[in-house]
Amino acid sequence: MTSEPSYFDLRDAVGKLCAKYPGEYWRKLDREMAYPTEFVSELTQAGWLAVLIPEEYGGAGLPLSAAAAVLEEMQAAGCNGGACHAQMYTMGTLLRHGSSEQKQRYLPAIASGELRLQAFGVTEPSSGTDTGSLKTTAKLDGDHFVINGQKIWTSRAEHSDLMILLARTTPLEESEKKTSGLSVILVDMREAMGNGLTIRPIRTMMNHATTEVFFDNLRVPVENLIGEEGRGFKYILTGMNAERILIAAECVGDAKWFINKASEYAKQRKVFGRIIGQNQGVQFPIAKAYANMRASELMVNEALRLYEAGENPGAEANMAKMLAADASFEAANMCIQTHGGFGFAEEFDIERKFRETRLYQTAPISTNLILSYLAEHILGLPRSY
Ligand SMILES: Cc1cc2nc3c(=O)[nH]c(=O)nc-3n(C[C@H](O)[C@H](O)[C@H](O)COP(=O)(O)OP(=O)(O)OC[C@H]3O[C@@H](n4cnc5c(N)ncnc54)[C@H](O)[C@@H]3O)c2cc1C
Repeated sequence: MTSEPSYFDLRDAVGKLCAKYPGEYWRKLDREMAYPTEFVSELTQAGWLAVLIPEEYGGAGLPLSAAAAVLEEMQAAGCNGGACHAQMYTMGTLLRHGSSEQKQRYLPAIASGELRLQAFGVTEPSSGTDTGSLKTTAKLDGDHFVINGQKIWTSRAEHSDLMILLARTTPLEESEKKTSGLSVILVDMREAMGNGLTIRPIRTMMNHATTEVFFDNLRVPVENLIGEEGRGFKYILTGMNAERILIAAECVGDAKWFINKASEYAKQRKVFGRIIGQNQGVQFPIAKAYANMRASELMVNEALRLYEAGENPGAEANMAKMLAADASFEAANMCIQTHGGFGFAEEFDIERKFRETRLYQTAPISTNLILSYLAEHILGLPRSY
């Protein structure tokens, strides 16, 4: 739909894989709230989830724009990358801050699909967006951390072997500031299940395999600490630009799916003896959604360009995420309207995609927090919280 799609061969290959997983596949899973195991396994086997892992560890060693193209293509094909997108960027914490031994141990196994690193435990029920107030603790006891606390919205935890966990290792009162004293620990969930780790699924408006996770004296070897103790918040922050840009690319893909679906329907549905797409009241919202999608796509590309030039595009990554999430949700709403009553029918897949794309107004960061970031860091307005 864009004039010059980059990564033509990659997009073509991902598109062909996704074509094997049409609407019926996702509808059935949605009804059963089941995980798309076959889809994720095939993506893993084809190496698409390991595009960002360097070649020396068995991945493709491609830049972030390649990962963005993979995710965008998945969404544009009507699939749901929410089932596996974290696998792509969560390993960045390990890659950037892990020891060479940790990288050797885990990255090749993640690249081959032998190990799944899909779970990212940051959000907690009482602290929410205020990450520095999180309450999960990891206390040293000999050569182990003893972990106690609770996470919420830990997506894909039941479909992951490893979890990147953010926990407090220095009590808040002894920490220099709220965001220090937090550490990143790699939890091997296969060992932990039933030994201090409990997972409880949360039913949500879309099929996202998200959960609550409880830690009750879970013992994790001290060698699973990633980077330096107390610097975990910074490590998590450094991965956020990549995460936001990739989610934005997914939203662009969603918007393309909705726009395509609406255009096709508007060209063939006849009411009052003429196709509905002949009416400006129907075609203008589609054209507007297209313009907004393209504008957000340009911001995604700009964020990618800066990121790949080694800059820290906090503003562009945030704006890309917000604009693309808005564009996809606007396109979703337009698509339902274009389809009249059929927009609500399960078999058209629109209501499912509508529910799925709504998430990105809230996660992984809500729109208000993006606006606060821009107000404070770009416009120099006072910090509002
Ligand atoms: C389906 C799903 C999957 C998720 N997956 C993961 C995951 O895998 N791992 C993980 O760690 N987290 C995950 N999350 C959590 C997600 O990142 C948070 O829900 C999101 O960041 C918002 O935080 P919160 O829910 O705690 O909302 P709160 O922090 O409670 O905020 C509630 C509302 O108030 C607004 N608000 C709060 N403070 C301010 C302020 N100062 N100024 C203006 N507005 C404010 C927010 O914008 C929001 O709209 C997931 C969430 C969902 C719903």
